[in-house]
Amino acid sequence: MTIRFAVVALLFALASLPVRAEWRDRTEAIMGTRIYVEVWSDDAAKGDEANEAVMAEMRRIDDLMSHYKPESQLSQINARAAQEPVQVDPELFDLIKLSTHYSVITEGAFDITYASVGHLYDYPHHVKPTEEQIKAALPGVNWRNMLLDPVHHTVRFERPGMRIDLGGIGKGYAVDRGIAILQARGFKHALVTAGGDSRIIGDRMGRPWVVGIRNPDDKNKVVTRIPIVNSAMSTSGDYERYFDEGGVRYHHIIDPRTGHSASKVRSATILGPTATETDGMSKTAFVLGPEKALEIINRMPQYDAIFVTPEGKILYSNGLAPPPPPKEAAAPRKH
Ligand code: ADP
Ligand code: MG
Repeated sequence: MTIRFAVVALLFALASLPVRAEWRDRTEAIMGTRIYVEVWSDDAAKGDEANEAVMAEMRRIDDLMSHYKPESQLSQINARAAQEPVQVDPELFDLIKLSTHYSVITEGAFDITYASVGHLYDYPHHVKPTEEQIKAALPGVNWRNMLLDPVHHTVRFERPGMRIDLGGIGKGYAVDRGIAILQARGFKHALVTAGGDSRIIGDRMGRPWVVGIRNPDDKNKVVTRIPIVNSAMSTSGDYERYFDEGGVRYHHIIDPRTGHSASKVRSATILGPTATETDGMSKTAFVLGPEKALEIINRMPQYDAIFVTPEGKILYSNGLAPPPPPKEAAAPRKH
């Protein structure tokens, strides 16, 4: 074999090898939480570039919608909407409008005006409102008192003292935006996570992704594992932002009807098509508790739910419920 022929043969052999694809990932702290992106890419640089684009999108959304940043448009609403209509970007307007859809289907268990009382809690500093403060703030909690003008994209509060925050849906929305960016770049297998909200496209090497639901009392233990493909998942738990006092856990998921932390479950997980939906629904499931929430979720085939109760029991919606144990008659007969 001549050298020349050998080189040509080698080049052909190399060209026919499958392209070496690999998982590229990136982690950052944005929106006060851990953002994680993982993408299956046959070009490392393109994968890294896409992951950076997802992070840039997260930062953009945070700048627009954070209630912690005084210059955000959302903070402008909180500062001025009780006095005058406040105009915002259509994107923010649409998400606020969408949040009212969840208020309707959950009979008010999800309500971004919960913040009228929610802002009185400061978990890292163990601050909670008195009963008098809650009573005074509660009339501000009612999404119906938020006037949304779809023509001018303005938001107006009908009552003084009203506030909103999108902490209950914004991360899910950001995850969906991240997935849209990856899809637009042609990626078929990816995971985007923002705190308790994740969405997955495709599978993982021909198998489902397996996600764990954590033990509410031990972040290193899982109570169950769920295989998922092409799906979003959000968990709301009483262990994320909280403090304990006098045997009571004060945490960041607030029942809009009472102004107190909801206590029917330790965690509520929702599976569904998009993270915006599952994020909105997970607070709802948490506030309503398994009985009422399962009634709603079992009527909506696109969602599934998993609850961890205060006693440590795990409850599933119909779509996930383990099959019933085999009947007696099916037991092997003794000869
Ligand atoms: P994470 O912030 O880790 O995604 P969750 O999805 O459980 O956690 O969202 C919790 C956040 O939802 C709270 O920090 C608060 O901003 C918001 N929130 C709390 N209670 C309600 C409620 N009843 N309706 C709407 N949003 C809520
Ligand atoms: Mg969330």
